[in-house]
Amino acid sequence: MIDLHVHTTASDGTLTPGELVALAREKGLRAVAITDHDTVDGVGEALEAGSRLGIEVIPGVEISVDHKGGEMHILGYYFNPQSPYLLEQLNLLQEYRNQRNPKMVDRLNQLGLKVTLEELEGEAGGKVIGRPHLASLMVKKGYVRTKQEAFDRYLATGKPAYFKKEKLTPAEGIELVTKAGGLAVLAHPKYLKEAAQPQQLAELLEELKGFGLKGIEAYYSAHKPKETACYLELAGKLGLVVTGGSDFHGANKPEINLGTGDGNLLIPDELLRGLKRNE
Ligand code: AMP
Ligand code: ZN
Ligand code: FE
Ligand code: FE
Repeated sequence: MIDLHVHTTASDGTLTPGELVALAREKGLRAVAITDHDTVDGVGEALEAGSRLGIEVIPGVEISVDHKGGEMHILGYYFNPQSPYLLEQLNLLQEYRNQRNPKMVDRLNQLGLKVTLEELEGEAGGKVIGRPHLASLMVKKGYVRTKQEAFDRYLATGKPAYFKKEKLTPAEGIELVTKAGGLAVLAHPKYLKEAAQPQQLAELLEELKGFGLKGIEAYYSAHKPKETACYLELAGKLGLVVTGGSDFHGANKPEINLGTGDGNLLIPDELLRGLKRNE
């Protein structure tokens, strides 16, 4: 078993990188890629834990880029986590978050929900701070019952405390990974509007390939067997590498298990060989 898409406390997961690798070992995983949102801060600790526990740890990252006003997620693998260019670009993404967070906090205060930036930073722990942390804080302070309610009433696109975050373009996101020596992969294609029409998705993938995209995440917790089959077929046609991951977030998404996703996810070990061949 392998899992090439997991989050730690460096972004919005609840396990530290060390705890995550320990859990991977407990569950019998052979390899795990740490793919935190907009940061590689968890990678060093995970690599260290991996060599100590005999689990293969792959440096990864998940970048949110702008796609027609919405979002698209690009996964990066096997880059140099110390690349100055990579770290500088990731700092820029964190800067974009730091521009947005005070606006959301101010708006919530105006709406009578008293939260502070310090409380938000405390809730996040790491440097990548975003809406999931704000939602958790709102639950803790008793303003909403669940994180979903926080999104539905305040934080989701178009809701009163929503503010747009500056993002890279898909080309820039792919370039960020590629220039740092890594492979860029399209995350969870299911969530894209184009996915409803295989032909449209194929056209989008062609465009992304032009920017340097190397792979597609065909195996994913929320993908139905039919969807996975469709993405595998597209990967074959377009010469893209196939990856797979659960999008494990620990207690922040309790329905998703490391390695097995919703319980039905089975990511073939061989995918790792394909990814390495293209490294
Ligand atoms: P951010 O990067 O701060 O904009 O937060 C994005 C994260 O918020 C996503 O990865 C989701 O986990 C979560 N999220 C975004 N929109 C919603 C929504 N409508 N309902 C629940 N969670 C959401
Ligand atoms: Zn996340
Ligand atoms: Fe994602
Ligand atoms: Fe993710």
